[in-house]
Amino acid sequence: MPDSIEKLLKAALTAPFYFGEIFVQKTTSGRFVLSHRDDESVDHLQTFRNAQDAIEIAKYDDSGNYRPLKTAPNLRHGWRLELDTLEELRCALDYFYPGRLAIFAAWKRDQLQTTPLRETLDRQSGMYRVAAKISDSQIDDLVADFCRSNGGCLRTILWKRDARGTSPSTKLPDEKFDPRYDQAGMLGRPGSTIPATVPLLCQEACNLLVAECRKVVKGE
Ligand code: SF4
Repeated sequence: MPDSIEKLLKAALTAPFYFGEIFVQKTTSGRFVLSHRDDESVDHLQTFRNAQDAIEIAKYDDSGNYRPLKTAPNLRHGWRLELDTLEELRCALDYFYPGRLAIFAAWKRDQLQTTPLRETLDRQSGMYRVAAKISDSQIDDLVADFCRSNGGCLRTILWKRDARGTSPSTKLPDEKFDPRYDQAGMLGRPGSTIPATVPLLCQEACNLLVAECRKVVKGE
């Protein structure tokens, strides 16, 4: 799998590209430079040179709050990460957005399996079993709020609400389900000037959404 991800990255690196909130550039000397996409033209960024530094950068937002959802649109600003090899780039991107490169590679090969939300909820056990009792209208509202790109999550939703193929939420724009669309660009950032974007894909509801479903059912 890492091989196919690196092939994919090589192809993507013919030009600078966005991956979520990250801007990735290749320098003329063959190194890779990453920064927050808002900081593309900012000088005096704090420079890091180790792929593992991405773990700390991704941990807290600008206000110092822990980021439980790594694809939330709250990556902190003010840093620049310089890396020597494609392998280091792959590792760093995986620290920023765990699992997303592998999911993107599977999607590119037409091999990505998605799981309907109802199926994810039905297989929960213990304290999360009750989450399956959430109604369709409650899902409609919850997904619209929790997964929205503006303030919720930057992933493109590929899963359906149920096995019938119902939309996860009728209250989200069509672009939220379209991998061609730059979810971070929806926030009105300067991203629209560079078209290359590698989407963050959501193939299955995350644990945080399952926990929110439970809270809705429990009336919390
Ligand atoms: S279910 Fe997917 S889109 Fe929704 S918040 Fe979780 S990771 Fe993001």
